[in-house]
Amino acid sequence: MQDFSPQNIIEILKTYMPKNMDSIALHEPYLAGNEWDYVKSCLDTGWVSSAGNFVDRFEKDLADFTGTKYAVAVANGTAALHTIYLLAGISTNDEVLVPTLTFVATCNALAYCEAIPHFVDVNNTTLGIDPEKLEDYLKDIAKIKQNICVNKFTQRPIKALVVTHTFGHPADLDSILAICNRYHIKLIEDAAEALGSLYKGKHVGHAGLAGALSFNGNKIITTGGGGAILTDDLELAKQAKHITTTAKQPHAFLYFHDRVGYNYRMPNINAALGCAQLEQIQTFLSSKRNLAKQYKKSWQDIEGISFFVEPEFATSNYWLNTLLLDNKYYTQRDTILKLAHTNGIKARPVWTLMHKLPMYASCPRMALNTAENLEQSAINIPSSVFLTQDHP
Ligand SMILES: *Cc1c(COP(=O)(O)O)cnc(C)c1O
Repeated sequence: MQDFSPQNIIEILKTYMPKNMDSIALHEPYLAGNEWDYVKSCLDTGWVSSAGNFVDRFEKDLADFTGTKYAVAVANGTAALHTIYLLAGISTNDEVLVPTLTFVATCNALAYCEAIPHFVDVNNTTLGIDPEKLEDYLKDIAKIKQNICVNKFTQRPIKALVVTHTFGHPADLDSILAICNRYHIKLIEDAAEALGSLYKGKHVGHAGLAGALSFNGNKIITTGGGGAILTDDLELAKQAKHITTTAKQPHAFLYFHDRVGYNYRMPNINAALGCAQLEQIQTFLSSKRNLAKQYKKSWQDIEGISFFVEPEFATSNYWLNTLLLDNKYYTQRDTILKLAHTNGIKARPVWTLMHKLPMYASCPRMALNTAENLEQSAINIPSSVFLTQDHP
């Protein structure tokens, strides 16, 4: 065992920095395939905007790759979540169970529907919702009234539950889905970080009603900005396409919109990038799993530090690799982060927990001890697909 020392941690991280670089971001795009060709064909043909072939192809490629019946491409991951929430019937004063450890978009999209996030805790094995705590908690606070789950204390309906597959690691979907079914709660997946991640051999994102993906610049594949809705439900897929394209009824020249719609479509030029990126996903996944294997080895002999590994039921994309500090070293976290940044290594802490943000501070919640510990313990370290210790 080597003694714990922030300097030593930085030295280890530096061994992953490519020789020709003096800084490494947390997760950078890697554009080494047909991106130029496909984008050029958009420019050459003028199909850069809301019509064109790449959107259809990207949707089909995504459905094939994830084993989902339907994929609907949209402007970003937040728009994907918002659309799913609308189609789940989430509206004013509905409560929706969400982990407090997530990116703010999971909650913001609920706020767009005037719904109320209700925070639940996560566990240490998945970094996602803890099914045991969820079950115990619902026993105390929920009752079923005419097939609707109601919060006994606020009298508001609990319409849905959103799981986040944190840093790409699948949450315990079977256990969570069983609880949701028993309580008449709809399951939605925030799979923004989890393209390529499998739960018991099945791609995440379509265990419940629907799932959201993101193709932001820092995600495992990128379209510049973009997102998608995954679902096995034909009607939901049709509605998702309809309301994200201004709810316009198809017609050669008439503009008739049958409800309030959204301009959430993904432009063709972004979908062109997506098609090229998706062609490379298998290499990305094997590079990332290989990087995680090397990281695991690098940290195994350092006192006071552990490296987070995928849950036993999962094959994770290892989107963001994560170090966990023992509690006696929580006070060292910011020293490590500062030293990392001074050395060009853009490590970061986890997101500030949702129940600590001003706009969500008064939302209902259970005891959130595990998330509060993780907030002090976890450090995300660089995870781009081209990082490795085996420099040429
Ligand atoms: C990235 C991300 C989103 C939002 O995606 P955008 O494309 O940035 O809107 C939502 N949830 C989680 C967990 C994310 O990591």
